[in-house]
Amino acid sequence: MKKITIAIDGFSSSGKSSMARQLAATIGYAYIDSGAMYRAVALYCLENDIITGDGIIDTERLEKCLPQINIGFEVNPVSGRSEVTLNGVNVENCIRTLEISNVVSRVAAVPAVRHAMVAIQQQLGIKKGIVMDGRDIGTTVFPDAEMKIYVNADAQVRAERRYKELLEKGQSVEFDEVLKNVKERDYIDMTREESPLRKAPDAILLDNSHMTPEEQNEALLQIFKRITNA
Ligand code: C5P
Repeated sequence: MKKITIAIDGFSSSGKSSMARQLAATIGYAYIDSGAMYRAVALYCLENDIITGDGIIDTERLEKCLPQINIGFEVNPVSGRSEVTLNGVNVENCIRTLEISNVVSRVAAVPAVRHAMVAIQQQLGIKKGIVMDGRDIGTTVFPDAEMKIYVNADAQVRAERRYKELLEKGQSVEFDEVLKNVKERDYIDMTREESPLRKAPDAILLDNSHMTPEEQNEALLQIFKRITNA
């Protein structure tokens, strides 16, 4: 069967990564988490004092450093999942903290960062057969994707999901802090000048506020089957 490109965009903590990963595994496609790439760049910025913990960013220095920031993916031999690398080092675990979440949207709003990441993403998807999730995949990265999904859920529900996830990872966080972060990232992602978060006109809207993970996976699979006549 001819392979297609699948773009899944949506708000922070809307569960789109889990859905996208599951769909890719079910249909035998590659999965790329584009948010992980921006998180890895944010990690580099924090480690090199290009951004402060409060989000004050030295854009000029960041642009100068960009050629030295190599973002890639490698497959974890145990889980079989693709994990993000920063200059050859697997940083998958260090990028999922609230510290990174608090600054990543500011880093991702810098046009030069977006141009560099979009170029890598387009290269990764050149052969199709890929599920990529993010904020601008259906609008900017793959505007010709055959299947586009736009995921939304109530901010409170999304913050609860993220809070639970962080607690399960052993991180000590307050719920209000997580909710504030979710809302702040929504705002920055929707109002930035360069490829803001918005629904592509041809994307299918999926509000998963009241859906179980199984229902979400099934909904995506049905859409995929319909689009590919499988
Ligand atoms: O998906 P995730 O929440 O891990 O993404 C982290 C951040 O990266 C988002 O809050 C958003 O600011 C940014 N991002 C983006 N464009 C993408 C993917 C993520 O701007 N395609």
